[in-house]
Amino acid sequence: MSKQPAKHFPVPTPETAPYWEACHNHQLLIQKCADCGKHQFYPRTVCSHCTGGTLEWAEASGRGEIVSYTIMHRAVSKAYAGGGVTVLALIRLEEDVQMMSNIIGCDPEQVCTGMSVEIIFEDWSDEISMPMFRPADQQ
Ligand SMILES: [Zn+2]
Repeated sequence: MSKQPAKHFPVPTPETAPYWEACHNHQLLIQKCADCGKHQFYPRTVCSHCTGGTLEWAEASGRGEIVSYTIMHRAVSKAYAGGGVTVLALIRLEEDVQMMSNIIGCDPEQVCTGMSVEIIFEDWSDEISMPMFRPADQQ
């Protein structure tokens, strides 16, 4: 018998550790540049807008809208085969940054561009919680 393949878990780096630590606490932190005031995602050592090096962590609202998406009917590997149909989406947050994530908590056929979504965290392990999104009108 072959061993069941494991899901790919993110491995925090010095740049991403504060982000993953916040996710573990079900809080979304993104970087904000102290020089130009703009937000960026994903975490980097310099600002992608002005190349400034003074980046702070700011709590994001966790709300945004779907810019684009695809519905995956086949799992990328056996480790994900139990998850059923998956919606992979590009989401623009209110802070004007874009994140790639999954849309959960609704029928995949109801997903559309422009749909308002909000963050919800899935606990994958004792250290890693994954940010996912669901339609914003759910509680
Ligand atoms: Zn900047």
